[in-house]
Amino acid sequence: MASKHPKGLPILFFTEMWERFSFYGMRAILVLYLTKQTMGENPGLGWSASDALVLYGWYTMLVYVMAIPGGIIADRFLGQKKTVFIGGILIAIGQLTLAMEGMVPFYTGLALIISGVGLLKPNISTMVGGLYKEGDSRRDSGFIIFYIGINIGAASAPLLIGYIGEVYGWHYGFGLAGIGMLLGQVVYIWGQKFLKDVGNLIVVKKEAGRKEHTPLTKIEKDRIIVLMISFIIVIVFWAAYEQAGGLMNLYTKEKINRMVFGFEIPASLFQSVPAIFVIIFGTIVAAFWNKRMKKGKESSSLFKMAVGTIVMGTGFLMMSGAALQAATGVKAMLIWLILSYLLQVLGELSISPVALSFITKLAPARYASIMMGIYFAATGLGNKLAGMVGELATHAGELEVFTGIFLFCLAFGLLLLVFFKKLKALTHGAEDIVEEAP
Ligand code: GLN
Repeated sequence: MASKHPKGLPILFFTEMWERFSFYGMRAILVLYLTKQTMGENPGLGWSASDALVLYGWYTMLVYVMAIPGGIIADRFLGQKKTVFIGGILIAIGQLTLAMEGMVPFYTGLALIISGVGLLKPNISTMVGGLYKEGDSRRDSGFIIFYIGINIGAASAPLLIGYIGEVYGWHYGFGLAGIGMLLGQVVYIWGQKFLKDVGNLIVVKKEAGRKEHTPLTKIEKDRIIVLMISFIIVIVFWAAYEQAGGLMNLYTKEKINRMVFGFEIPASLFQSVPAIFVIIFGTIVAAFWNKRMKKGKESSSLFKMAVGTIVMGTGFLMMSGAALQAATGVKAMLIWLILSYLLQVLGELSISPVALSFITKLAPARYASIMMGIYFAATGLGNKLAGMVGELATHAGELEVFTGIFLFCLAFGLLLLVFFKKLKALTHGAEDIVEEAP
């Protein structure tokens, strides 16, 4: 980890940190704003909880699905660097539009943010990969660092924007999110000198009179197949992990004993815990995998993802523990929840940044952003599934759902461990290290 990373990395780190600050901050107050009554202090839109959650579900899915057109635009027309810039501008205008009152600004703002995130999010991730040459051993740790940036934004925004929005007024909260994104743009523009060789449009030369068409080679096809299979892991992962905002959040509120030193911690504060764990444990997990790699032990992306799925799953076993304790009629101990988030994050760190890095190793350069777009769309689908799984708990019971998630992740992870060598063969050595970190 001590090895030097390219100068472009801090630029992408801070741009994405501010983008996520703006994204998660706005997300933290969206439902609160929608459901707050229209009269009285700091009025909201007065929607019912179910209407608000439906809009929220569509919003969180669409932002990620729009990563597909975002990727296509970058690969075909603009290159990643310009697309990220335009995305950032749209997000900032969108947030500042939300800062105005009225329904027209509200929907316009949401649409602008959805398009902007679609343009920015997949492409800035692909650009991180572009900082490293094929076979560079620093790539995975570069993505972990980038992921820590994401989570600094994600951990601080709900606290800051949430506070401003709830106490001073929703529109100030949205405005602050807009300012955050503008700061990200300032960093990005200032840092262009460090991004000269990355994110530019790859021009496929047209031969006179012939249409441009370069068919995929067998190796490229195999790599795309293994990427698509890895996206199934991603869907399973997010469908479980995203219980945090829904089912786990409600469970924390109702059935976890949140008294610490005579003070009851509000349930919403626990929403920042996973992101804080990412910041604390990010480099530790990266160092762990690095060490294994140096010793020549198995540490391919597919292996990490399989192990990560099982580790994340055991986080839900902790919640089963909580549910068993709560079934005796007392509130469950807080340690169950903390251990659960810790295990989930240790799993996350072996999956989410690893997947980003994996895509940039395997995707043919001219389709890099589209593949990244499909990846984010898969995470969007995982998010939507998470809502459905969480809803199940209202019929089946929490103990059953938590235990079910654990068993599913365990079985799925073990299955991957059985087959990962076959899948790895399809990568045709894309992960071989040819260049040691300087
Ligand atoms: N927490 C990560 C981020 O905000 C993951 C998002 C995702 O992959 N859907 O970047």
